[in-house]
Amino acid sequence: MKLLSSLSLFLAAVTLIVHAEDKAQPTTKTPAVETKTSKVVKTDEEWRKELTPEQYRVTRTAGTERPFGEAYEKFNAEGEGTYYCVCCGAELFTSHEKFHSGCGWPSFYDSSKAKGVQERVDDSGGMHRIEVTCKRCDAHLGHVFEGEGFNTPTNRRFCINAAALKFVGAKDAKPELKELGQAKKDAAAIRKADEEKLK
Ligand SMILES: [Zn+2]
Repeated sequence: MKLLSSLSLFLAAVTLIVHAEDKAQPTTKTPAVETKTSKVVKTDEEWRKELTPEQYRVTRTAGTERPFGEAYEKFNAEGEGTYYCVCCGAELFTSHEKFHSGCGWPSFYDSSKAKGVQERVDDSGGMHRIEVTCKRCDAHLGHVFEGEGFNTPTNRRFCINAAALKFVGAKDAKPELKELGQAKKDAAAIRKADEEKLK
């Protein structure tokens, strides 16, 4: 009898432990879902095909164009309109935020309301700067500087390479957003094939 009660006590303990472990386990595995479906991802080769060598160097390798160059002169002559990403067509700046800073590169005191511009810390070259990129395709656009004393509403200067911008006048049709790119499609196809295998 004594042995039997010890056994049931032991079994009860085991049951308790098993249940405790059950609770500790995650219920269901969440599948890896692509949330940023609108992000443009292309291979180096694809970008090279679509862009001029200067556009490619600036936007895809974080290059800087020569100040006071031809593209800058053109930028200064442009009137009312919108500036789009030369790589993917996302809206980045408008002529309303454009101002003359005299630095030799296109200057804006703010990005457009479309919020297509993202900022990130850039500690390259022994300098601490804020890099400005396109939110949709990660194209390098330039840098943003603060507190330089320019008489603008934000006291910020988005110092942007003209080669990264596509200007469209106020009366012209805006460019179409470019598609996601082969690299993105390949990644999606591989993921789908993997999911099929798991079924
Ligand atoms: Zn872009």
